[in-house]
Amino acid sequence: MSVYYMNGAFRPLEEVSLPLTDLVIQRGVGVFESVKIIGRKVLAITAHMKRLEESALGAGIKIGGTGVIDEITRALREGSLRDDCPGGGECAVAKAYITGGDAIDRGFFTAPRFFVIFSQMDPIFPEGCENGVALQPTAERRPYPLVKSINYLFGLMQTAGLDDMLECLYCPDGYATETLRSSFFVVLGGRLVTAPEGTVLKGVTRDIVIELAKADGIAVEERRPEVSEFALAEEAFITNSLYGVIPVIRIGGTAIGNGKPGPVSARLLELYDANIEKWLDR
Ligand SMILES: *Cc1c(COP(=O)(O)O)cnc(C)c1O
Repeated sequence: MSVYYMNGAFRPLEEVSLPLTDLVIQRGVGVFESVKIIGRKVLAITAHMKRLEESALGAGIKIGGTGVIDEITRALREGSLRDDCPGGGECAVAKAYITGGDAIDRGFFTAPRFFVIFSQMDPIFPEGCENGVALQPTAERRPYPLVKSINYLFGLMQTAGLDDMLECLYCPDGYATETLRSSFFVVLGGRLVTAPEGTVLKGVTRDIVIELAKADGIAVEERRPEVSEFALAEEAFITNSLYGVIPVIRIGGTAIGNGKPGPVSARLLELYDANIEKWLDR
């Protein structure tokens, strides 16, 4: 059972709706954040709310002042403390959306709507993804990388019919950037290599993993890995707020390393799990 926050209150599904005139329905105009709730606390709430604001700004959705972001922040905290929070608030996901609303004024969306959905963790990832997942490379690029858009259509189309591929990996011009919904890393010569901010979304988990890696003496190089380097990489992994660090064992037809999750991914996942408390409600 999910819980919804809309128009100033927490409500059941029967009491929430969007009009068909909202541009999120008609034109796919909308931005969002997926955040994890652990032990009734929201993981990295400040970073997520800052990115939501930047996504809205980047998309031309006029939220005006801090009111909307403040209300969503409050709703996330209150929702995670409620008795009816899914998963008892111990482990849940909250998705906060800002839609394009009903009005366009010279390319700006001036009457946005917003809402938050609290649910059980989605089974986005198959059971056993700790054994490693496969990615489907595509030469497509994700436009406007700093905007976390609701529109996943063109990314999802890349893996249509491919049961074994978890997500597409965007590789425009022969360089790997990020996947459909995760940041992407390779391990080359013991160093992490990941695309620099600006060429990809500012991943909250990406930043946490980079901080943990550096503190553990693992060097981090911020450049886009070349597709030709996949065959040389010892390891690869993806990161996102819901699942932390997920090993990648194959990209298209290329096995990564020995085709099994490697020690650097395992070490980073261990560090992530051991330290995640530091980022709760922060
Ligand atoms: C959500 C998302 C990520 C992961 O970001 P986190 O803040 O770590 O959850 C990375 N890339 C894209 C394209 C995304 O949509």
